Amino acid sequence: MDLFEYQGKQYFGRFDIPTPAGDIADTVEQAVAVAERIGYPVVLKAQVKVGGRGKAGGVKLAANADEVREHADFILGLDIKGHIVGRLWVEEASSIAKEYYASFTLDRPNKMHLGMLSAQGGVEIEVVAEENPDAIAFLSIDPVKGLDLEDARRWVAQANLDEVAREQAATLLVALYRCYTEGDCDLAEINPLILTPDNVVKALDAKVTLDENASFRHPEWDEFRATDTIDPREIMAREKGLTYIGLDGTVGIISNGAGLAMATLDVVNQVGGSAANFLDIGGGANADVMAAALEVINADPKVKAIFVNIFGGITRVDEVAKGVLEALSRVTINAPIVLRLDGTNAVEGRAILAAHLNDSLITEPTMLDAARRAVSLANA
Ligand code: GDP
Ligand code: MN
Repeated sequence: MDLFEYQGKQYFGRFDIPTPAGDIADTVEQAVAVAERIGYPVVLKAQVKVGGRGKAGGVKLAANADEVREHADFILGLDIKGHIVGRLWVEEASSIAKEYYASFTLDRPNKMHLGMLSAQGGVEIEVVAEENPDAIAFLSIDPVKGLDLEDARRWVAQANLDEVAREQAATLLVALYRCYTEGDCDLAEINPLILTPDNVVKALDAKVTLDENASFRHPEWDEFRATDTIDPREIMAREKGLTYIGLDGTVGIISNGAGLAMATLDVVNQVGGSAANFLDIGGGANADVMAAALEVINADPKVKAIFVNIFGGITRVDEVAKGVLEALSRVTINAPIVLRLDGTNAVEGRAILAAHLNDSLITEPTMLDAARRAVSLANA
C-alpha cells in the first residue's frame, strides 16, 4: 500500500525523522486556516500518489492568505497524471541550500536491503542514475546486521554530502532504516532530503510503500487503509478472501495455484488476448470460493469472457463445477465462461456441468484450446 506524502511524513514522525510542520486541508478555507496557524510563508502540496507533483504545478509557495486562496483553488481538483487532487498538505516553507536523495528498498535477488544516497536530489533518481550514475552511493545492507551509525557516517561521506550535513544525515538515515525495517516498508524514500541555509537537515518529501504482508502486526495501518484509493475490484476480492490482482484486459481469469494462474495469463497473451486480472483460488477451494471468484470477476465491466482454468490436485474438480453452478444460480454472469477442467475428479466435475452447457458455459479439452476460445469470445 502506497501512502500519501502527509501519511508518509506522519509515519516518519514515529521514528524521529525530522520533517517540516504542517497539516492537511480539503478546502480552500481549511488551507487558509492551517496557514494562519503555522505562519507564512507556507507551501501547498497536492496529495496524490504519484511523483512529479512539483513539475505538474501541484507544489506552490504562498506568502499570505490571498496567495493561499489562489494556489489552493488552483491545486484542488487539478489532474496530475490522471490523479485528481482532493487534499492538500500545507506546511511551513523551508529555505533550501541543498537537495539530496535517500531511500531504502529491497534488493530481492541478493536477499539484501538496498540504500541509495545522493548529493544530487530533487530530480528523479532515475534521471540521476541515467545521466550521472557515479553520483549515487549504493549501500547493500545485510538485514541481519542492519545499519548502525558508523556505517551511516561512512555512507554520507562516500555520497559526498556537505560536511555540515553529514552528522545529521547519518542520524536521519539510521532512523529512516528503522522506519523501513521496523515499520515494514517495501520502500522508504526522501526526495528531496534538504540542507537548509542554517544547516538543518530534514525530509521535505516522503514516499512510503508499506508491505501488506506485514499488516497483521500493524493494526494502526487501518487509518491509512481508510484513505487508500485501491481498486474496488481488489477490495471486493479481499473481503471474500481471494488472492486477486486487477489488470487492464478483457479476459477474466480464475485458476488454482499461483503458478497455474500465471501460466494462464501467459497463454491468454500468447493467443492474442489480455487478462483482466490474476485470480488464484488456492488449493482445496470449494464451491463457495469458486462462486465468490466468479462474482468478483463478474463485477468488472471490462470482462468480456471468463476463463476458468483448473487443474485439480487438492482442489477437486467436482467442487469447482458445483461452485460454477452455485454462482450461476446466485447472480447473472455477464460474460461467457470457458472452462478447462482437469485433474482430481475431472470426470465427475464434467458430468455435473454436462446438462448445463450452452453458448455461455463452454468446456474445452486443453488449456490452449480454452484460451483460444475465451480470447475469441472476448474479442468478438
Ligand atoms: P514531487 O515533485 O512530487 O516530488 O514533490 P516534492 O515534495 O519533492 O516537491 C518538489 C519540489 O518543490 C522540491 O524538490 C523543492 O524544490 C520544491 N519545494 C517543496 N517544498 C518546498 C519548500 O518548502 N520550500 C522551497 N523553497 N521549495 C520547496
Ligand atoms: Mn519529491
